[in-house]
Amino acid sequence: MKILNKLAIATIAGTIIAGSSLGSGQGIYASGKKDETKDSNQNSDVAYMGNTKNPKNVIFLVGDGMGPSYNAAYRYFADNPDTKEMDQTAFDKYLIGSQRTNPNDPKENVTDSAAGATAFSSGQKTYNGAIGVDANKNNVKTVLEQAKENGKSTGLVSTAEITDATPAAYASHVDDRDKKDEIAKQFYNDKINGKHKVDVLLGGGAEYFGKDNGNLKNKFKKDGYDVVTNKNELQNSKSKQILGLFADNDMPLEIDAPDKNPKLVDMTDSAVNKLKQNDKGFFLMVEGASIDKSGHPNDVTGVMSEMSGFEKSFEYAMNYAKENPDTLVVATADHSTGGMSIAKGKDYVWNPDAIHQMKHSGKYMTEEISKGKNVEKVIKDGYGFEVSQDQINKIKDEAKKLKDLKKDEKAYESQLQKVQDAVQKPINDESHTGWTTNGHTGEDVNTYAYGPGSDKFKGNIDNTDNAKNIFDFFQKDVK
Ligand SMILES: [Zn+2]
Repeated sequence: MKILNKLAIATIAGTIIAGSSLGSGQGIYASGKKDETKDSNQNSDVAYMGNTKNPKNVIFLVGDGMGPSYNAAYRYFADNPDTKEMDQTAFDKYLIGSQRTNPNDPKENVTDSAAGATAFSSGQKTYNGAIGVDANKNNVKTVLEQAKENGKSTGLVSTAEITDATPAAYASHVDDRDKKDEIAKQFYNDKINGKHKVDVLLGGGAEYFGKDNGNLKNKFKKDGYDVVTNKNELQNSKSKQILGLFADNDMPLEIDAPDKNPKLVDMTDSAVNKLKQNDKGFFLMVEGASIDKSGHPNDVTGVMSEMSGFEKSFEYAMNYAKENPDTLVVATADHSTGGMSIAKGKDYVWNPDAIHQMKHSGKYMTEEISKGKNVEKVIKDGYGFEVSQDQINKIKDEAKKLKDLKKDEKAYESQLQKVQDAVQKPINDESHTGWTTNGHTGEDVNTYAYGPGSDKFKGNIDNTDNAKNIFDFFQKDVK
């Protein structure tokens, strides 16, 4: 289905033509009826959802910040403009229910990723910032630890620092998510039955594994892990255990990343191929972390880039589960981010075509500008459509204010966001994307599941039920 093109949007802005174009049966609100060729496949898929058997392997995918508006917006974005109806995403046909996300925090009732991931990993509601500890700061057992106790292989994959809240909550226990040195140390030091807890660690965060933090990289290497830093090394790795650190901090967004960087699907592929060699099965958590990290600064280009990367990983996991009927795949989100809305202002229009034209994310352009690069050039290289001189001047004004601040000054971060807001205003306007916050929002999120045990994820469940279900599977699997 073709969303109104740029020209049409200019024409309809603020006029009655908007109503008539949208009402002309172009299917902007189409039901998402599947095309014929997909249907036969779909029926067998659906039969396999709601499966009550016990899985041997669990692949748990977290779209960090992937609230329901992200899934719907991505459907518009990924739609093939040449077909009349709006196409389904890879997620849609596996929608099985929704989840509640609220934390157990004395001050905040909207969750952060630490409390969200601790609910996923341990089944405990806790306070924001808590990593693998309950509301009283006591360590709580995680499903990854249970998997290891059962003799399974385990893996954590993220586009963020691998010490970031979501992966951290599966294999470490600290009272504050910012204690990343400690989290990395626990990844190395904590053992179960004499073995390292996590066999596959792939993501960013090299900073926490180097000389300044006990040379953890070298220690892992000595213990038989392959230690890799780019896609080529990752794909050539033969060891069953691996530490892949592809950036000092968070990995660059897929739209901006150099080719030598692995994408989320490459990391997922490598992780599965290593973990599957264990006859007792595996537990793997895969996080599309930068969906959230793009949502915070209201970077719609970044969000679509990372939703696309996450969809590819989801499809990969789903294909694996179809070939290996002992594998359960669950995909969900910990919360939504940014209050992203599909349309803003008075028009009934959201225009993903504008986002398709973008060559870089707002994050990338903002970083370039903050390094002192020429604003006009950065915007020209990053945008696929013309940005008005007036807008460019506004970006320059904000960039100038940033230049006057030092990085460690308190005002720096908020001014950086102002630069990013100015950088992104043309794309947020052109695409008609609305935002309400730079933080998280508390709506329920979608659950997608397939394979043995998927029945347990049906309906409106609590985020803690993910862990409760997986513990239950792993308990049965010992008997
Ligand atoms: Zn967040």
